[in-house]
Amino acid sequence: MVNAVRWCLPAGRSLVKSPRVRLFDTLKRDYVSLEPVDGKTFRFYCCGPTVYGPAHIGNFRTFVMQDVFRRVLEVGGQKTKHVRNITDVDDKTIRDSVAAGRSLEEFTAQWRDKFHADCELLNCLAPHIEPSAVKHIYEQVEMIKELIEKGHAYASDDGSVYFMISSFPEYGKLSHLDSRELDLGKTQNSRADSDEYDKDDAADFVLWKGRRDEDGDNFWESPWGQGRPGWHLECSAMIRKYLGETFDLHSGGVDLVFPHHENEIAQSKCSCGGEFARNWFHVTHLRVEGKKMSKSLGNLYTLEDLAKKGYSAMEVRYVLLNGHYRKPINFSLDSLHAGREALGKLAKAAEGKSARGYKEILKGGDYGVFAGALQKLNDDLNTAGAIGELFGNLKAAESEADWFGLYSVLASLGLILPEAEKKIAPDEIKKLAEERWQARENRDWAASDRLRDQLLEKGWVVKDGREGYELVSA
Ligand code: AMP
Ligand code: ZN
Repeated sequence: MVNAVRWCLPAGRSLVKSPRVRLFDTLKRDYVSLEPVDGKTFRFYCCGPTVYGPAHIGNFRTFVMQDVFRRVLEVGGQKTKHVRNITDVDDKTIRDSVAAGRSLEEFTAQWRDKFHADCELLNCLAPHIEPSAVKHIYEQVEMIKELIEKGHAYASDDGSVYFMISSFPEYGKLSHLDSRELDLGKTQNSRADSDEYDKDDAADFVLWKGRRDEDGDNFWESPWGQGRPGWHLECSAMIRKYLGETFDLHSGGVDLVFPHHENEIAQSKCSCGGEFARNWFHVTHLRVEGKKMSKSLGNLYTLEDLAKKGYSAMEVRYVLLNGHYRKPINFSLDSLHAGREALGKLAKAAEGKSARGYKEILKGGDYGVFAGALQKLNDDLNTAGAIGELFGNLKAAESEADWFGLYSVLASLGLILPEAEKKIAPDEIKKLAEERWQARENRDWAASDRLRDQLLEKGWVVKDGREGYELVSA
């Protein structure tokens, strides 16, 4: 019977059917069990960075959680397709590139490269596709044309085009702006043409911005004259191209729920039809002294700021994971200290146990005493709970399965352990070890065993190899 099951499995897959991942869905306001709509590949989209400066660790809370999301699916045996865009044309990129006297392309390339380098330090898997907004102007213009044709958008006198939110009765559903708060009839005469605004300012939003002096050389041709796309449009256009009209999940930080994601839904559903994102996953903010970490408040830390203070990217990653993604984390340097200690403890426990790489982990298996930690991750990405389970079971870990389980949890969290500090053996210990090696060479097994026990009593383990031995503190 077991053999029959084994023959049905694709090579290298676990015999244990991967558990479904449960997640809290922002739109449904309830837990959902995640399954790919095509039955094969879980296809998801994350709004990427706006590349006008270094990303701060608040931004990285969101990107790291999205990375854990993907890892948890993959460790559970689910194939994924991960698309994350680069916002390289919007109000801020244009403003700052013009102020710096550099071309938009050159200016944003520098910050895109910095973002990639930071992602690598944080051990974030690169998305399968990373489209740039500037390279998809054609697709955005095409989408606007469709929206106008279908009666959802209109051109204004200044060469801009606006989405008419009163034409889409579902507007406000994701952000739970109900009809009392949002009178769609009244929005028709009000327009929002900046990329970001509050719920109180809900209004027809800009799809195409007519060319203005302050935009410098940054404009493109369109049926409505020269200009550039509004920020919300790029994601809708690129999602359609790379994921189609219906895909599995969309994600970002909570500040994107309104207006960005609300506007994406309106643009996509009105132009293409389809369900758009079947599920929504939003990450709560990283805070500093109770306030959202943000560039505008000037309370941010970058990885580089923290490296100058002696903290590693892995310590930052640990801190970003040591809280549930739907609760705020208040960032402090003390929490980085605690992260350092925690990683050190894990490294000490795992010392000498053969480390396993991500690819090996994907083959699945028995997770031993750490099965509970993986369950926590499968249940609404409870990273803090998984970390608690790691420490709760560390002392009980002894079997091969347990160590495999430990590395599987670490791979799901994307944590890389520091090299455990190697204790240098004192001369007395080195002398005993040397005597034992000689006894072994002389095939005096009794003396060799006696000396091994003496060393163990003093807290040292001897590991024999073909060419010699290694002393490791017990
Ligand atoms: P941006 O580069 O401004 O487009 O933001 C990139 C991502 O970071 C978006 O998903 C934002 O929602 C997210 N984000 C911005 N600030 C924070 C923060 N303090 N904590 C968590 N996520 C954030
Ligand atoms: Zn987006």
